[in-house]
Amino acid sequence: MTQSFSYAGSSAQIVFGDGARSQLADWVRKVGCSRALVLSTPQQKADAEALAQDIGDLAAGVFSGATMHTPVDVTEAAMKLVAEAEADCVVSFGGGSTTGLGKAIAYRTDLPQIVMPTTYAGSEVTPILGQTEAGSKTTVRDAKILPEVVIYDPALTLGLPVAMSVTSGLNAMAHAVEGLYAKDRNPISTLMALEGLRAFSRSLRKIVASPQDAEARGDALYGAWLCGTVLGTVGMALHHKLCHTLGGSFDTPHAETHAIMLPHTAAFNAAAAAPELAAAAEIFGGSIGSGLWDFATAIGAPLSLKELGLSEADLDRAASIAVENSYWNPRPVDRSSIRALLQDAFEGRRPQD
Ligand code: NAD
Repeated sequence: MTQSFSYAGSSAQIVFGDGARSQLADWVRKVGCSRALVLSTPQQKADAEALAQDIGDLAAGVFSGATMHTPVDVTEAAMKLVAEAEADCVVSFGGGSTTGLGKAIAYRTDLPQIVMPTTYAGSEVTPILGQTEAGSKTTVRDAKILPEVVIYDPALTLGLPVAMSVTSGLNAMAHAVEGLYAKDRNPISTLMALEGLRAFSRSLRKIVASPQDAEARGDALYGAWLCGTVLGTVGMALHHKLCHTLGGSFDTPHAETHAIMLPHTAAFNAAAAAPELAAAAEIFGGSIGSGLWDFATAIGAPLSLKELGLSEADLDRAASIAVENSYWNPRPVDRSSIRALLQDAFEGRRPQD
């Protein structure tokens, strides 16, 4: 049967390559700006300051308070600096947390964003912003949130610790796996998802063996762009819903939660989305859930929710929260099947798909 689809390419400008970071000043000018506020986490402050020095007069300042889950009070503190420094664009230097802060500023001001990713999370190519206020997380999707320019330079990821490289890569791979069976998928999102999965299946093993392998780092960043673009283009399902529930209600760490859950959610949907997942299953040895679990094991990823400090009582609550609102998934979702999936993930069992 012919596949029906509708497709719109992303408007984001992607600049990719070794040494691409040296193009930052050019891109600040090309987006019509001259006063860039550089954003980072406290941990990456020194690198952000060095970047600001590199672009000289084009830098209006550095705000290094970015943190997980984009708290609104942090955004407000950064907004004060945007006004004081008369910034006309933001440069987000870091992973999903820093990118989140840049997006939150752009959502409020429509200032152009240039992102220089240093992890594989993929947030830089999506129009999605999750922010937290008074302990609750809300997600918005808006054209203003999509960064205008993304500068991918593999050298910026050489220092990403191996454990974070692994979990961040699996986080990106989860976008691709769910993109394959998305209801609104299109031929391009499918090509990008499969190519992204291939890139990570090649590169993460090499990074674990040799973290300074620049070529493998480039391949992983290429995968991050592809998988992130899939997340920005098509709808997600059970996997992202469950990770959102675990992170939002139990404060589990973002990338680790994705890494642990992915083999189990993929196995859960394996039969219902068998044709859509067939090519991905091939990449991982034949069965998608157990194949991803074997891959995660080989690269030393965390495997069990137990390791994150969750209890079995938490699983009961998580299963109830995860079925409170209905959402589309290739296999219908009910509380008892989700509770069983969570138990498997809690124990770190190899899926039987
Ligand atoms: P992160 O940005 O929270 O970074 C984790 C830590 O690693 C930070 O301390 C950071 O400073 C440090 N770090 C980052 N890169 C480094 C490097 N190269 N070397 C050394 N240290 C480095 O981690 P993340 O997993 O990239 O982002 C997670 C956040 O992104 C979550 O809040 C998640 O919700 C969000 N996210 C959003 C989207 C979206 O589309 N909106 C997509 C994916 C993730």
